[in-house]
Amino acid sequence: MSVHTHKDPNKKRIIIIGAGFAGIHLAKSLSKSEFEIVLIDRNNYHCFQPLLYQVATAGLETGTISYPIRRLLQRYKNFRFYWGDVTKVNTETKTVRLQTSVAEELLEYDMLVIATGTSTNFFQFEAKKGMFMSLKSIPEALNLRSYILQNMELAVMEESEEKRAELLNIAIVGGGPTGVELAGALAEMKNHILPKDYPELNIERMQISLFQRGERILDMLHPTLSQKALEYLRKMGVNVYLKTAVTDYDGDDLTLNNTEKFPTDTVIWAAGVKAYPPMGLEKATILPNGRIQVDENLKILGYDDIYAMGDIAYLPCTAYPNGHPQVAPVAIDMAAHFVKNLKLIARKLPTKGFVYKNKGSMAVVGRNRAVVDLPNYKTGGTIAWFIWMFVHLMSLVGFRNKIAAIFTWAYSYFTYDKALRLIIRPYRREEK
Ligand SMILES: Cc1cc2nc3c(=O)[nH]c(=O)nc-3n(C[C@H](O)[C@H](O)[C@H](O)COP(=O)(O)OP(=O)(O)OC[C@H]3O[C@@H](n4cnc5c(N)ncnc54)[C@H](O)[C@@H]3O)c2cc1C
Repeated sequence: MSVHTHKDPNKKRIIIIGAGFAGIHLAKSLSKSEFEIVLIDRNNYHCFQPLLYQVATAGLETGTISYPIRRLLQRYKNFRFYWGDVTKVNTETKTVRLQTSVAEELLEYDMLVIATGTSTNFFQFEAKKGMFMSLKSIPEALNLRSYILQNMELAVMEESEEKRAELLNIAIVGGGPTGVELAGALAEMKNHILPKDYPELNIERMQISLFQRGERILDMLHPTLSQKALEYLRKMGVNVYLKTAVTDYDGDDLTLNNTEKFPTDTVIWAAGVKAYPPMGLEKATILPNGRIQVDENLKILGYDDIYAMGDIAYLPCTAYPNGHPQVAPVAIDMAAHFVKNLKLIARKLPTKGFVYKNKGSMAVVGRNRAVVDLPNYKTGGTIAWFIWMFVHLMSLVGFRNKIAAIFTWAYSYFTYDKALRLIIRPYRREEK
C-alpha cells in the first residue's frame, strides 16, 4: 500500500468522505477556497435519495435522480475526486485508507470530514437481511423494481392460488416517509397500471400492507397530518396496520406480534437506519447506532481536525435531545455552517455553534395527495402535493434532471402511466 503523492504542498487539504447532501454542498462551497478539496465516494455519482422510491416504482429514471460527481465539480481547479471506499482513518499519520476495486491507497489530510450517511438497519433481522428488500441506493431501487415486476410475471404462470397470492402481495415494514411514499406509489400502480398490463391476473386480490410499530404513521408530522396520510393510504387500498410489529419472516409468511401471518414473497424493510463510520476512530465517540458524537462546531469529540456532518453526526441539543433529524436540510445546513466557521477562523474570529432552523417536513402519498408540515403552515391534499413537487424539483441536482422530472411527472399525471416497467436487473432475494 502506498501513500498517494499528488498532494499540493502549498495548500492545506480537506478530505471529504461521502458525496451525499452534506459532502456535495461542502465540496461546492469550498471549491473556490484556498484549500485543496478531495472528495471520495464509493459511487461516482450523487444520489437524490428522497426520490429513490419513484425509481423503485417505475416512475423516474435513475439518471433523473443522480448526477456524476466529476461533472458537478469539473469547473473547479482545487478539486479532486477519488472513487472508492474509505475503510480506515489513521488519526496519528493523518491518512485515510481508500479501497478501490483493484488497489488500496493512503491519502493524507490536514482536515477530514466524515459525511458517509447511513444504511438500512435490520435490527434483530440482520442475519435474515438477504430475504428483505431495502431502499437506500440506486442499485437497491432497481432491484426492487425488477423484483416486483418479475413476481408479476411469475404470478401469471403460477397455478397454485396460494403461491400466486404470495407473489402478488407486498409487505412494507415501517411507516416513515419511505414506507408511506412507497406504499402510495405501489397502490397507484395496482389501481391504474397493473390491471391493464396483466389482464390474466385478478389484481383486486393483490394486497399491499404497511406495518407500523408505533401508534401513527409519519410520526415526525403533526398528528392531524399523520391521520390525513393514513386516510389517503386507506382510500387508495393500502392495508395499514398500526401498533403492529414484525416478529419473523420465513420467506413465505410474515409473522406479526398479534400472531397473525401475512403471506408474501416481497418484504420491503423501511424501518430504520444505521451509520457505519470508517474504522480507526475512538470507539467512545461512536453510538451503538453508528452515529458519531460531535461538538457544536461539528468536530468529532476528542479530535482537533476531524469533523462529521449529515446523517452520521450526533449532536444532541435542547431542541433535539436525541440528535438532529436525519434529513437532507440538516445535512446541507451542517455543511454550510462548517464553511462559515472556516471563514471565521481565517479572520481569527471565534467560531459559532450549529443551530438548526427547522424547515419542516413533508411526504407524498399519491396524485393530489400529500401532507406538508412547515413551521407556520400545515396542509394536505392538492396544495401540499404541488408544494412537495416544487420543493423536490428545485432540490434535484442539475437542469437536465429538473426538466426530465417535470416531463415524466406531467406524462404520468395525464396518462396515469409509468413508462419504466423494465426488468433490467433480474434480482432474486436470498433463499430461505
Ligand atoms: C428512501 C429515502 C427517502 C428519503 N426521503 C427524504 C425526504 O423526503 N426528505 C429529506 O429531507 N430527507 C429524506 N431522506 C433522508 C436524506 O436522504 C438523508 O438525510 C440525506 O441523504 C443525508 O445526507 P448525508 O450527506 O448525511 O448522507 P448521504 O446522502 O446518505 O450520502 C452519503 C454518501 O457517502 C457515501 N459513502 C458511505 N460510506 C462510504 C465510504 N466508506 N467510503 C466512500 N463513500 C462512502 C455514499 O455512497 C453516499 O454517497 C430520505 C432517505 C431515503 C433513503
